[in-house]
Amino acid sequence: MKKILSMSLIASCLLASVPVMAAGEKIGLLMSDLRLERWQKDRDFFTKEAESLGAKVYTQSANGSATTQISQIENMISRGVDVLVIVPQNGEVLGSVLSEAKEAGIKVLAYDRLIKFAHVDLYVSFNNVRVGEMQAQALLKRVPKGNYFLLGGSPTDNNAKMFREGQMKVLQPSIDDGNIKIVGDQWATGWSAQAAMNIMENALTANNNKIDAVVASNDSTAGGAIQALDAQGLAGKVAISGQDADLAAVRRIVAGTQTMTVYKPIKKEATISAELAVKLAKGEKINTTGTVNNGKMNVPSVLLTPIAVDKSNIDSTVIADGFHSHKDVYNP
Ligand code: BGC
Repeated sequence: MKKILSMSLIASCLLASVPVMAAGEKIGLLMSDLRLERWQKDRDFFTKEAESLGAKVYTQSANGSATTQISQIENMISRGVDVLVIVPQNGEVLGSVLSEAKEAGIKVLAYDRLIKFAHVDLYVSFNNVRVGEMQAQALLKRVPKGNYFLLGGSPTDNNAKMFREGQMKVLQPSIDDGNIKIVGDQWATGWSAQAAMNIMENALTANNNKIDAVVASNDSTAGGAIQALDAQGLAGKVAISGQDADLAAVRRIVAGTQTMTVYKPIKKEATISAELAVKLAKGEKINTTGTVNNGKMNVPSVLLTPIAVDKSNIDSTVIADGFHSHKDVYNP
């Protein structure tokens, strides 16, 4: 049972002119950054499903700031939400604010990114190690021998580490037998395209442009790196991976400047999460696919399957699924 809000909390809500909460389950949806294409879709699918089940969703975006996200979570706790659904900006700093949530009887669902060293009731995501494996497999198929540059995602995102784990699993045998050589390894702060572009420019200079493949962990960083490759006349000549099936990335695959992306059916992830968040709020039983250890506990988890996409299967995956239209992809 949720504890009754203290008088001081109620007073501070009134002072902050927080709107009076509606009836039904109340869900606080805390996004790390809505500036990337995929997260807007997550928000919209999640909200639509949760509201169709009678819940009310209160959304906030931290715009890439971990401290902003902590205050937003505190604010949701004072508002008296039943469930917090969080895409952590920094998955390692939420332990203490989530103890406050637990104290207040609020359930926590880690959405897409694991929250570490904290009490978490449920984790919904994809098999992220598999995502990394798919990226490396596609590159190795096209470039079985050569110089590889590793372009990681945000160092504060646990997913970025899991993608790298999967990539290395696949690349290690080829590194060991000398077929491929890792010529650099950098991580793009905040998954920023600009950071990725700068990293790629420097990597090209340091290697006299002798890079045959770039293991980019998502489409925003791939986009930045491709701009740097393009400036050297290398776009399309250097193999490069991605993830998210962002429209711009799918178009780059059609144009031949990006080798692949990984499509993660976000509608499914968001819809399932909304259903489970409502169940958590109602205290109902939840079916999971297993658990993932977050350094504090084994978190009950639901992990979905990602899909590798290249030129050959765009139509049968992202388009067939209605994720993008045929026209948007081929005739922008
Ligand atoms: C997500 C990716 C996304 C990245 C940047 C990761 O945690 O799993 O889909 O591209 O964050 O927002």
